Amino acid sequence: MDNNENSVIKLLGKHGSAEAYAIRDFLNRCGVNFEWVELDRDEQARDQAQVTGLDDSRLPVCVFPDGTRLEHPTVRQVIEKLGWFQNPSRSEYDLSIYGAGPAGLSAAVYGASEGLRTVVVERFAVGGQAGSSPKIENYLGFPQGVSGAELAERAREQACRFGAEILFLREAVRGEFEPGRGTGYLADGTKIVARASLCATGVDYRRLNLPNEERFHGAGIYYGAGASEASLCGPDEHVFVVGGGNSGAQAALHFSRYVSKVTMVVRDESLKKSVSQYLIDRVLSSPRIELLTLTGVTALHGDNVLRAITLRNKRTGKEWMEETSWLFLCLGGDPQTRWAVEVGIMRDEAGYLVTGPDLLKNGQRPDNWKLDRDPYYLETNIPGVFAAGDVRHGSVKRCASAVGEGAMAVTFIHRYVMNG
Ligand SMILES: Cc1cc2nc3c(=O)[nH]c(=O)nc-3n(C[C@H](O)[C@H](O)[C@H](O)COP(=O)(O)OP(=O)(O)OC[C@H]3O[C@@H](n4cnc5c(N)ncnc54)[C@H](O)[C@@H]3O)c2cc1C
Repeated sequence: MDNNENSVIKLLGKHGSAEAYAIRDFLNRCGVNFEWVELDRDEQARDQAQVTGLDDSRLPVCVFPDGTRLEHPTVRQVIEKLGWFQNPSRSEYDLSIYGAGPAGLSAAVYGASEGLRTVVVERFAVGGQAGSSPKIENYLGFPQGVSGAELAERAREQACRFGAEILFLREAVRGEFEPGRGTGYLADGTKIVARASLCATGVDYRRLNLPNEERFHGAGIYYGAGASEASLCGPDEHVFVVGGGNSGAQAALHFSRYVSKVTMVVRDESLKKSVSQYLIDRVLSSPRIELLTLTGVTALHGDNVLRAITLRNKRTGKEWMEETSWLFLCLGGDPQTRWAVEVGIMRDEAGYLVTGPDLLKNGQRPDNWKLDRDPYYLETNIPGVFAAGDVRHGSVKRCASAVGEGAMAVTFIHRYVMNG
């Protein structure tokens, strides 16, 4: 996005405002520089945001470079004002891609660059899970690492240069597929028609499933590695990261640059099972990171914002409370593919979409398969409907592999569009 034009967007709100967090998260993921003004006194709210005080329901306030002021805006109102909220420009495309994470963006770059009329439907911002990562260090070509938001923004720009359309804040809810024509229905009633469709919807963050969790989302509880939030934590604050995978370790290391104490809460006995060795070494050698193994979060406490959590040691049964307003959940995710059941797309037990050779049982094609060829690699059991990245059964759950699958899917989509 054009940072010069947007550099003076100002967002004013109070700590723990979930609405302000959603806007910050969106702008961060799109690589937009903006100024966040955290209001902590009534007087400051009056002077700077022109509202009556911190409890004024008009907060947060967003002020744009042209002087336009939006009170208590939704993310959609902000992006409408920026001119990024678009309707599809065509009644029919060659390729519709659902999800603008690494897999979807990669497919958009390759699809559009190879001449396919391509549209991407994304329910939030670009980047997917990777977009919340402060530093991806194992992605080829970035020896110093790259933030997920930067990687995604570069990919978005690249896809758009080749002519792909990206529709933000649009959620696909249903599909209908017939040979050579798929229709995606979006939550707002928009219909997307394309000759081939690619599902790249990744996984949705797992929740703790505790009372109050939804209430504190964006107000003390954050999903993913919280790349956008670290710089807002004061040096004396105590940050908790739950999850013993690579993303949890990455988050803990990132926060340890900003605060004096980070506690990593892990349900297993050690990090060994699930974390890359280079991250384990760094976590264990950081004097600012405390590792609590065999431990879980069992309760959340607070008022408008999270104030404390209860922890429980699985081995001893001991429970205790810790004060914190920063809880980052890196618990992995589950695919959201219930829509696929309605259209007869095959899923595995966990809900991942089954594709290509995995559809063959003892060399036999799926029952509903009418074509005299096997399903293409990455094609589901509905001809012309493909899946790539984390949503796919057997996928590797890495950025590079999602990008690889997105690119690969386009080769088969081309074949499908040309030959059926
Ligand atoms: C914090 C964190 C750090 C990570 N760090 C690394 C790392 O260092 N190295 C590495 O290799 N991997 C890392 N990973 C894993 C990597 O990010 C994922 O494997 C990768 O993002 C998967 O890409 P994807 O495109 O398949 O899916 P996702 O990234 O999950 O993207 C899916 C997209 O689809 C959208 N979507 C979902 N449903 C719908 C719908 N119905 N309609 C429209 N849009 C929809 C979502 O909003 C999302 O943008 C990390 C993951 C996390 C969470």
